[in-house]
Amino acid sequence: MTEFVSFRCFSASLVAAVVVALGLVSSGPLCRGQEMEQGPAPRLASDRHTDTHIAEAIRQVSADHIRQTIEKLVSFGNRSTISMQDEESIKAGKGIGGAREWIKTEFERYSKDCGGCLEVKTDTFTEQPGERIPKPTEITNVYAVLRGSAPQQASQIVLVTGHYDSRNSDTFNGTDSAPGANDDGSGTAVSLECARVLSQAAGKLKFPATIIFLTVAGEEQGLNGSKHFAQMAKQQGWRIEAVLNNDIVGGDRNPRQDTTVVRVFSEGLPAAASEAELKRIRMLGGESDSPSRELARYIADIGRSYDAGVKPLLIFRLDRFLRGGDHYSFNQQGFAAVRFTEFREDYNHQHQNVRTEDGIEYGDLPKFVDFDYMALVTRLNAAALASLASAPAPPTSVKMQTKNLDNDTTLTWDPSAGAATYEVVWRSTSASDWEYVQTVSSGTRATLKVSKDNVIFGVRAIDQAGHHSLPVVPEPER
Ligand SMILES: [Zn+2]
Repeated sequence: MTEFVSFRCFSASLVAAVVVALGLVSSGPLCRGQEMEQGPAPRLASDRHTDTHIAEAIRQVSADHIRQTIEKLVSFGNRSTISMQDEESIKAGKGIGGAREWIKTEFERYSKDCGGCLEVKTDTFTEQPGERIPKPTEITNVYAVLRGSAPQQASQIVLVTGHYDSRNSDTFNGTDSAPGANDDGSGTAVSLECARVLSQAAGKLKFPATIIFLTVAGEEQGLNGSKHFAQMAKQQGWRIEAVLNNDIVGGDRNPRQDTTVVRVFSEGLPAAASEAELKRIRMLGGESDSPSRELARYIADIGRSYDAGVKPLLIFRLDRFLRGGDHYSFNQQGFAAVRFTEFREDYNHQHQNVRTEDGIEYGDLPKFVDFDYMALVTRLNAAALASLASAPAPPTSVKMQTKNLDNDTTLTWDPSAGAATYEVVWRSTSASDWEYVQTVSSGTRATLKVSKDNVIFGVRAIDQAGHHSLPVVPEPER
């Protein structure tokens, strides 16, 4: 059954006015050269769509609680992956072992408060000596699972992560102070606070999909913890749809900080793409449509829809220069993963021994962290997690018919678990974000009076309440 979806051309000036008002980048009208059609106009993809329950849930994020978490993490002294983790140090509240045990009890406490809704788990392995690991070292990732409520969707996973290990000026120093308040006490606090708030909300808000709140170790030694976790997930066939990696989101209090934004980094060409996939991407002009980038756009949409108080600033690049992060471990295994980082980092407050030299303070101390900013970033993360976990599964087998030369575009896909309807989104090939959205009134097929040559399409699944999945870009089918 073919469904014809048509739209009325906006005048170029109207499109330009709306596009400018919404801060979108556009190369001009999309329907140039197309005849006027009667029918429902497409909506702007930048329109807000807010779930009031999610809005209420994210208001529970507490700057004070985040501060307590970070101060507690700092109290372990040195959380280097090669710091102490023997029984005695754990009892004394020192070293990475102490931090690990505390994170576990913290997740368990949240679980108790929600009637046991979280499964608290560890992923432990021994890393063999390497460039930054002098001797065989046990590494433990700690995580909590909020299992999805819909049997058909519980295998669909969204994940938030931060690294709880820290370092000072010397990668091999496991004893002297390495507070790691911002790097990455901040990201660890985001995972914990999202777990606290969303486990509380899970009573009222049923999340059909599963949310994992992860804290990893080994980041500073070479992404060891996240690498092991992502490989395990891949080997066990976990369907991780989205990874939100928060690393240095403390909003360092330097004069040139911009606390109105948080950077969201996403890879362009997928790290896991095969030669054949790269060839296809090149042919289709799909260089800016990796699953990670669609996730970044989804977060931009969440930023518009929820008053998190901080705007995601999308950076179309894997990471900052000279630095890496745990999202890359997930990218390497083929998962969509992005990195959140504050706008302007102060390198005097990262990877530094705590000291004062020539009147300059060095060290990653809690006093440089802006806890109010952190609450905003946590709200944005929580809204994205809740929204993704509420949504249907993304459509699969999304195809674009290219059998004949045709100025219209026909898309087909397979039904998604939990979907009530579907939407087609599109944008000009040179636009950074989705510009238009058209609801498909029934079925899993749509024909649009828009030329596939001029735009990039995506299809997303929508549930009864309006939650939408990540969009999937169609593959040509001949
Ligand atoms: Zn870090």
